[in-house]
Formats: sequence, structure tokens, C-alpha cells
Amino acid sequence: MRRSAALRSLVRETRLDLDAFVMPLFVGPDTRPNPELPPLGRFSVEELVGEVEGLVRLGVPAVILFGIPEEKDDEGSGAWDEDGIVQRALRALRPRFPELLLLTDVCLCEYTAHGHCGVLRDGEVANDESLELLARTAVSHVAAGADAVAPSDMMDGRVGAIRAALDDAGNEATPILSYAAKYASAFYGPFREAAESTPSFGDRRGYQMDPANVREALRECELDLEEGADVLMVKPAMPNLDVIRAVRESFDVPVAAYNVSGEYAMLKAAAAKGWLDEQQAAVEALTAIKRAGADVVVSYWTKELAQWL
Ligand SMILES: [Zn+2]
Repeated sequence: MRRSAALRSLVRETRLDLDAFVMPLFVGPDTRPNPELPPLGRFSVEELVGEVEGLVRLGVPAVILFGIPEEKDDEGSGAWDEDGIVQRALRALRPRFPELLLLTDVCLCEYTAHGHCGVLRDGEVANDESLELLARTAVSHVAAGADAVAPSDMMDGRVGAIRAALDDAGNEATPILSYAAKYASAFYGPFREAAESTPSFGDRRGYQMDPANVREALRECELDLEEGADVLMVKPAMPNLDVIRAVRESFDVPVAAYNVSGEYAMLKAAAAKGWLDEQQAAVEALTAIKRAGADVVVSYWTKELAQWL
């Protein structure tokens, strides 16, 4: 059954379908292309509209927005500002692309001067105080046109806080895609450059997960489900295929995986050196993520994949 392309295709167990892919996009006060890693460049709101138009034309069904504000402060107030960067982007995109799924990342780290995912008290992230700000951010995104929100902060209790706030605001039908098992990973490097979200001191190991743990990932997923998560996400994807599989087998809700910037960058860099064929390597990696059990894949390759498919 492997003798010809047609036979192989007939019995292929896992297929890449653009419908399952989400393209991450960065929006900021100005456009700053990234020539080496184009999807990690940033767009002004105006130029974002043009980029999204191209994606829609290619058949990309969904995007997730990350915002880089003009100014940062200790509380990260740009995150829930009615006139904040993501809110402005949503209001520009929503009427123009009614069919496109608009997801938003909900976190404070792009908006806080210190770069942590919550507010600080005595030099430490204050979990419970951060919840209200995250919930306010999610509600403001939905008011501006988001179809679903994706909290990535890893504070305890944030899914429940966001669910309650969305319901209070009359958004009972808005789903929450939770970054349920988000590891403290070295593979986020290029993203942090793009989103300007590198912590100014310390690291995120106090709230993100230890990459050595898988039982803890299931516990995190269980808590998020109890709090009302609709989709469980594992991040990063390639170093955690076993975690994706374990989440897939333990829960019956959709599972998402974030194929992060470092995973993208390492194959890009190897391809640029002539060491790998990028398209073949990317398709193999994305297929493995789906084979591991991901229903939804957030990937910087989404635009290129749309062209390859
Ligand atoms: Zn964050």
C-alpha cells in the first residue's frame, strides 16, 4: 500500500486540512516587518486589514490577535482599554471579514512594563488581583468583535473569572479556548521579541508549567474544564506531542496545540542553511501534531500551508 502516491494517499491516516489552522498575527502602533521570520513581524491596524484580506483569500479560516500597545504600565491597562490596540484591530476587521474567526490572546504581559502576565505585588505576580484585569480584557475583546478568547496567562482561576465576566456581560455564547497546559519553554524566544513581552526580571516558571511534567498538565486541563473552558490548548506543540496525546485521551473536548515561534524558527533557520526542505519538514511536523491528537493547530505556517495545500 506504499507503492504509489495514490495508494499512500488512499490509506493516509492523518490529513492536513486548512480548516483546523489558526494564524497568529501581531498588531501594534506601527508596521515592523520581520524579514527572516515574516509571520513574526507586526502590522499597524491599517496594514493588518490588508494582510488579513490576503489570508482570507487563501482560505485561512481563523486568526488569533496579539497586541503590542503604544505604552506599557505596571497594571497593563492597555489590555482592556476600549481604544486599545487589539480592540481597534477587532473593530477594523469584524465588519470587513464577517466569516473569519477572530480569536484573541488574553494576557497582560504585552501590556505590563515589567513583562509579567499578571500584576505584581512585592515583586511577585499577584494571582487573584490579576484575574479581574484578565476578565475585563476578555470582555472588552468580545465587545469589540472577538468570536472567542484565549487566556494564556496561566493564573489559577482565570478561566472561571473570564467565564463569569463574559456571562455577566451577556456573552454566554462566547467560547473560551484555554492555554491549559502552557509550559515554561525556551521555544518562545522569537515570539517574545515580536510581542516585546520578555519579563524585565525573573522568568515565568512560577506560573507556567515545568516541561518535565505531564500529570500536572492533565490536572491543569481538568481545572480549566471545571471552570468552563471549551477548548484545551497545549503549548508548545512539538516538544509535547505526548502531552497532546494524553490530553486527547483524557478529555472529550476539542484539543488545540500551539506550534510556537521557536518551532517555526528552527526549521526556517535550518532550511535557510540548506539543511532541510522547509515545506516537507513543516508538513511532517504539522502532521505529527495532528496525529498526536490536536483538532486545532495554531501555527505561523498557516499562511504558507494555505499556499502549499
Ligand atoms: Zn503572558
